[in-house]
This record gives sequence, structure tokens and C-alpha cells, in this order.
Amino acid sequence: MSALFGTYARSDLAFVRGEGMRLFTADGTSYLDFNSGIGVNALGHHDAHVVEALKAQADRVWHVSNIFTIPEAERLAERLCAVTFADRVFFTNSGAEALECAIKTARRFFFDRGEPERYDIIAFSGSFHGRTLGTIAAGGNPAYLEGFGPPMPGFKHTRPGDLAAVEALVDKNTAAILIEPVQGEGGVTAMSTDYLKGLRTLCDKHGMLLILDEVQCGMGRTGRLFAHEWAGIVPDIMAIAKAIGGGFPLGACLATEAVAKCMVPGTHGSTYGGNPMACAVGNAVMDRVLAPGFLEHAEEMGRLLGWHLQQLAQRFPDLVVETRGKGLIAGIKITPPVRDFVARLRDRRLLAVAAGDNVLRLLPPLIVTEKDIEEAVGIIGDALEAHAGNAG
Ligand SMILES: *Cc1c(COP(=O)(O)O)cnc(C)c1O
Repeated sequence: MSALFGTYARSDLAFVRGEGMRLFTADGTSYLDFNSGIGVNALGHHDAHVVEALKAQADRVWHVSNIFTIPEAERLAERLCAVTFADRVFFTNSGAEALECAIKTARRFFFDRGEPERYDIIAFSGSFHGRTLGTIAAGGNPAYLEGFGPPMPGFKHTRPGDLAAVEALVDKNTAAILIEPVQGEGGVTAMSTDYLKGLRTLCDKHGMLLILDEVQCGMGRTGRLFAHEWAGIVPDIMAIAKAIGGGFPLGACLATEAVAKCMVPGTHGSTYGGNPMACAVGNAVMDRVLAPGFLEHAEEMGRLLGWHLQQLAQRFPDLVVETRGKGLIAGIKITPPVRDFVARLRDRRLLAVAAGDNVLRLLPPLIVTEKDIEEAVGIIGDALEAHAGNAG
């Protein structure tokens, strides 16, 4: 029996090495990785530039404290601001902490303006924002809230896609709207451009803040650096994590100056957040993602993966209900139980992820090639065919 908490239905599979799109077990068996540690390893495994940056930083200094100036963090923050709407960044170790910072910043913004009663945030069913007490309340998934005492107050939920339903929830206590431009964990649901534009307009109309959770869909996964760019809108606050560290724990909360200026000394903090090791890696990841052609490649591969998934849907109309997602955060809603299906794919040496609503989620590293996509889709097709054969 494992000495770890039983919080995961773990597979016995253990990997000892990774290279590019592949992971290897101790006996040398190779797996094609369309999971990326759940959207983290955007550069695949063992990226030479990132490994070099980590090793070099390990020889300089690992950790100081945020009471000192951390040049690697200053540089990464400046770079993030240069390529986004943001003017200020708070670094964290995880996505949930980035969301916690986003939620606190939104509440504090209104407190600072003499409107402390404005702390309600409108969030959405099917969303996922992390596993802290605050972020399970924000996510609102009953399965994740059960047994953990009263949920933190200050969140209202509605179904995504209906602007009138959102506006109906707005009252004098509403501070912000919080949404994933592409819901990941909940079922790989991409919000439409019109809907995201509509949410921005609603926020402007009611003096609310728009908070985007791009922890999973950001950092190039949709083929743009951030998913909201497709809609031509900007948020006031954005949480990112996962791919920004490429596998090293790193997250960030980004905000405009107008919003971030309420977060003065004493309002928030983190011992590790933005430490030299994490930010050295973050900068190396940024070098790679911002290099000419990188995002264009991710966009092209995303389109290709989407096309192949549509072909699968046509080939297996009884097993594939619909295709979902945007770019390289892609999915198919299937009729066979998705967790079993992910295990069947694993037996065939393909790593994928289950998402809510019985969706098979594909999150390959952004360095994925046409050949990798054809191989993965071939394996999924074989597994669907085997399922159809067994069922028939
Ligand atoms: C993974 C995820 C989080 C939580 O990130 P952790 O690093 O696990 O805390 C939050 N929001 C979204 C959209 C995510 O995909």
C-alpha cells in the first residue's frame, strides 16, 4: 500500500525518463504523451534550453525571500507585462494560489474604493479553479465541496454561454466575473468570441472586473499566447500557471495597474512564490514560447488535431458525441466511460486525460508534430474500433 494520501486513483505506471513527446518506464517502454502532466509540459520533456537554465540557476542561488529583489522575477514579470494587458504580476507556486491572489485582488480593489460590500464573484458551472477552500467555492463543483464544511461565501454560479443569466445575477454586491476562456477539467468547453466579448461589455457596464483563469488554456495552448486574444478582449486580472513553469511549480496573477495598486505591503504574500529557481525556469520557457514560429506551430498543430478529431467523430458516430476545445486543448465527448477509455489508451502506449462530461481530453506538448498527431489519432481510432467490436 502507498504511504501517500489516497487522493488519486493512481495507475501503477512510473516513468523514469522523458524526451520530447515521449515518456519511458524503467524497462524502456515508450509512451506518447498527449497529457503533458495535465497541460504543464508545453515544451515536452527534457527541453535542453530549460534544463540548462535550471542547472545554471541551481549553481547561483536557489531561494532568498520576497523581502529582497529577485532579478529573475523582475525580468519575468516585465516580460509577461510586455506581452499582455497587465502592468503588475504576483508570482505563486500553483494555479490555485494564482486564483486566490486574483480573488483577493478583486475584493481588495472594491474595499479600497470604499465599496467593501462588493465582494461577490460570478463564476460558472463546469469550471475548475483549484482545490483550496477558496477555489473549490469559486469552482462550485458539488463533488469537490462535499465534506469540507461551509463553502466560502462570495460566489454565485450560472451556466456559461448565456449573457442574460449572468446579468440577472448582478447586484450591488457584485465585484467580478471569473471564467476560463476554455474550460479544461470541466469538459474542454471553449467559450465563443461573442460570449467573451459580451462578458467584457457587462463588466464595463456594471463597473465589475473581468478575471480570466488561463491556468490551463494560456501560454500558447490555443495557438495564441493567451486564449482571450482570440476574442480581442482584455481582462482586468488573469491567473496563469501550468505551462509557464514547463514542469517547475510556478504560477502568476497578472493585473492592470489600476487594479493591482490596491495590493500594498501586508495585503498578500508567499514564501516561495517567484523564487529564483522558478523564475529562471519561467524565463527560459518564455524564451522558447516567444521565439519566432513557436505559437504559429502550436496553432497549426491545433487545427490539425481538431480536423483529425472531426474525422474520428464521423467515423464513429455512435461513440463520439462531439468534438470540443480550441487548438491543443482538445477533446471528444464519447459514449464509453472515459476513465476506462483513458486506461485502454494507456495500454496502447498513449497518455491522455479524462475531463468532466465524459470527455477525452488531449493536451499534447506544444512541440507536437503532424506525425505525433497521426500516431495518437490512430491509437484512439483503434481503441474506439476495439470498443465497437467488443460492444457488438
Ligand atoms: C489546474 C488548474 C487550476 C489549479 O492549478 P493547481 O496548480 O493545480 O493549483 C486552476 N484553474 C485551471 C483552469 C486549471 O486547469
